[in-house]
Amino acid sequence: MKKVLIIILITVFVVGSLFAGGKKEGEKIIVGTSAGFRPFEYREKGVVTGFDIDLMTEIGKALGKEVVVQDMDFDALIEAVSTGTIDVIAAGMTITDERAKRIDFTVPYFTADQAVLVRENTDIKGYAIEDINNSSIKIGVQTDTTGSFWVQDNAPDATLQQYGKYIECIQDLENQNIDLIIVDKPVASAYEANRPVKVAYVIKTDEQYGLGLKKGSDLYESVNSALKELMKSPTWEKLMSKYFGE
Ligand code: GLN
Repeated sequence: MKKVLIIILITVFVVGSLFAGGKKEGEKIIVGTSAGFRPFEYREKGVVTGFDIDLMTEIGKALGKEVVVQDMDFDALIEAVSTGTIDVIAAGMTITDERAKRIDFTVPYFTADQAVLVRENTDIKGYAIEDINNSSIKIGVQTDTTGSFWVQDNAPDATLQQYGKYIECIQDLENQNIDLIIVDKPVASAYEANRPVKVAYVIKTDEQYGLGLKKGSDLYESVNSALKELMKSPTWEKLMSKYFGE
């Protein structure tokens, strides 16, 4: 009787783990991102892809772990990594002192500025940085981004409209519900190439992107070293030219 029970238990365990894809806990890295931030993360035929996703896939390969992507609002990422819902943030996230109090950042992997994005047919003369600090100007930002902090610090009189995702923000710009968007320059350029919008100005901020992990995460050392190795490898050049080449 005992033997039968043991055989049943073993069968249940083996079949169960087959259904779980044969993956044990710890063999997957759950990556949190916020799609709509082309070329870093965006949806193609419904699937989230982009520079950050390829970068994490390479890190996953180096660590022998499967990468699973979870798409969410940008302002939910820090909480999600702190509570363990996700393992790593890969979302073009700028390393800031405030954020570094809550999460651990890897070495920087990208440098960017902010940009003022307007509709294609806008006369940019009225949109100089000193002109947009005006309550009649409606500025769209993604909540909790460095673009949103820039507006709060530099154009406090403007009417600030916050969005969970840039996708909705761009739609509102095209529909004339807002006048401009402050967004990271590489992303503004990608929107310029794909939608009826243009970059009016670049705001030099010299921000550096890092991957974000829970404070004291066991994964930190391996992810950080894999990123450093990747940045020295020919694969990095390939990634850069795939997403930022001419
Ligand atoms: N780099 C900006 C930030 O960290 C924007 C990132 C994003 O919107 N995905 O706030």
